Amino acid sequence: MQDYRELHRSSIADPEAFWLNEAGRIDWGRPPTIALDHSRPPFARWFPDGTTNLCANAVDRWAASRPYEPALICVSTETDTEKTYSFAELLDQVTAWAAAFQSLGVGRGDRVLIYMPMIAEAVFAMLACARIGAVHTVVFGGFASGALAARIDDATPTLIVAADAGSRMGRVIPYKPLLDEALGMADHRPSKVMIVDRGLAPVHWAHHDVEANALVDACRHVEVAPADLPSDHPSYILYTSGTTGKPKGVQRDTGGHAVALAASMKHIFFGEPGGVFFATSDIGWVVGHSYIVYGPLIAGMATIVYEGAPIRPDPGIFWKLVERHRVSTMFTAPTALRLLKKEDPAHLARYDCSSLKALFVAGEPLDESTSSWIADSLGVPILDNYWQTETGWPILTVCRGLTDVEPRLGSPGLPAYGFDVRLVDEVTGEPVPVGEKGVIAIATPLPPGCLSTIWNDDARFVKTYFQSIPGKMLYSTFDWGVQDTDGYTFILGRTDDVINVAGHRLGTREIEEAISTHPAVADVAVVGAHDDIKGQTPVAFVVLRGALAAGDELAQAIIQAVAREIGALAKPTSVNFVDSLPKTRSGKVLRRALQAVWEGRDPGDLTTIDDASALTAIYALRDARTMATKA
Ligand code: AMP
Repeated sequence: MQDYRELHRSSIADPEAFWLNEAGRIDWGRPPTIALDHSRPPFARWFPDGTTNLCANAVDRWAASRPYEPALICVSTETDTEKTYSFAELLDQVTAWAAAFQSLGVGRGDRVLIYMPMIAEAVFAMLACARIGAVHTVVFGGFASGALAARIDDATPTLIVAADAGSRMGRVIPYKPLLDEALGMADHRPSKVMIVDRGLAPVHWAHHDVEANALVDACRHVEVAPADLPSDHPSYILYTSGTTGKPKGVQRDTGGHAVALAASMKHIFFGEPGGVFFATSDIGWVVGHSYIVYGPLIAGMATIVYEGAPIRPDPGIFWKLVERHRVSTMFTAPTALRLLKKEDPAHLARYDCSSLKALFVAGEPLDESTSSWIADSLGVPILDNYWQTETGWPILTVCRGLTDVEPRLGSPGLPAYGFDVRLVDEVTGEPVPVGEKGVIAIATPLPPGCLSTIWNDDARFVKTYFQSIPGKMLYSTFDWGVQDTDGYTFILGRTDDVINVAGHRLGTREIEEAISTHPAVADVAVVGAHDDIKGQTPVAFVVLRGALAAGDELAQAIIQAVAREIGALAKPTSVNFVDSLPKTRSGKVLRRALQAVWEGRDPGDLTTIDDASALTAIYALRDARTMATKA
């Protein structure tokens, strides 16, 4: 075990030496001799003279040395199926998919949009892109046509890969009609659409649609060697919410990405070849990219791809999978644990979870009671870790695989090696004293694995992340934090208008825009309100046009507009009709004051408010709600 402080200090004092050493964890075509090109800050090009391939590191490497070991364990409690692919079988599948992509004209740098449920083919498609140097952009299957159309237009994919349907809690959710609707809304036209027909929902085949399985079968035994790509070649784009209605395409490189994940698997996630990793996220989110697909496979581990809910067929399903597949590392979100905590503890006690070394949780604050409950139930360390789509791997954690530091309840931990974390004053950018609230910022260069830019928008990358803290070239996480005397950081919520619903980040602006598509809506504000299970849920305050009558029917129509535009995950849990919104004199909605009042907290300084009666109305709504709940 190393001394944490010494390790962290060396990674910051001499990042080049630190990361060149870590680069030895992956296979290179041409090994890098230079760690970093930081000549154009804040852009950081890691391993600029190296060449490599993510798929070769995730698949070929292990297919050569451990061909018959499990690589993908695909379990669906929705379709009652289970299938394991060894590394050799995974290589065959991925090669055939890569050949299929090439046969459809997909080349290096072309985008492939993947809109798929949690099935093996989704992973084949991602790895096939990596193999040929195409850039995948996975869109979470829970997103609806409006969100999908926006991503199609931004990424301008050559090819879209989708499935006939997904399934959730036993209910089939057809994907193809949503995709067709999105294509109708989007300006961009992909050349082809590949559909994996699972036989779950009828498919209406259009002229550009290709049936995936037949094409892939026809491409078996075509040799497709992994492309030897420059380290800074984009490997993927993953959209995430910000404060504007337009999602940001987080772009990740190839070499830095591979090294960062390989290092994190070793130092943070107890990743050893032959181990089994179970991340309960979805490939549509960053955890799915880093710790369902690339991280575990790069580490030579088997990874579980699970299509299903945490409570179906019963709330013991996670632990059943742990026992059955001898899972060594598990990764989940606090929301899932809070859901399971409500259930009979017998569901957990029934299974032998002794293979587990640790349970990692991330994505949202982990409350102490949930943390203690699961620690007592499982008898393994519960390791909270804090990071973002942008960073791709943990910023704050305790690196138990590498150092001797202990976790501290309520805090995700200390800065991971490579992250020079500072807590700074929002206005001056100066460091805040220990114990005082500040913006969590990271000094440049960001370590390998972090976003290299925003797709097609370098200016937005610089402006959004590096110019929000005045006068300093610091990356802003847009999270508030406070540090204790030992350097443990505690997360205190977002500084911007992003909310976190069940560990998923949603922009309130996006939800407001979806609500505004309803013709009855004149003005709207959405805030995140506390929820015991999901952490937060969206609550909408709507001003209607003219003399329209508010009512349940209209509220439902507004909720449906959100489901249609973004997806069910963004649906407001409450729609409140008001005469006006609390705004500043310059017209900015006071979302934080709205949220505070709704949650029964002090709204703070209201000197900038234009019309105090707007907030008075919200007090009345809140009181009415409280009375209704009590009744
Ligand atoms: P996403 O990019 O969707 O993964 O969301 C990242 C955001 O989730 C962060 O900026 C935080 O607001 C929140 N978050 C992630 N991990 C944690 C954690 N361990 N504790 C508290 N908040 C977290």
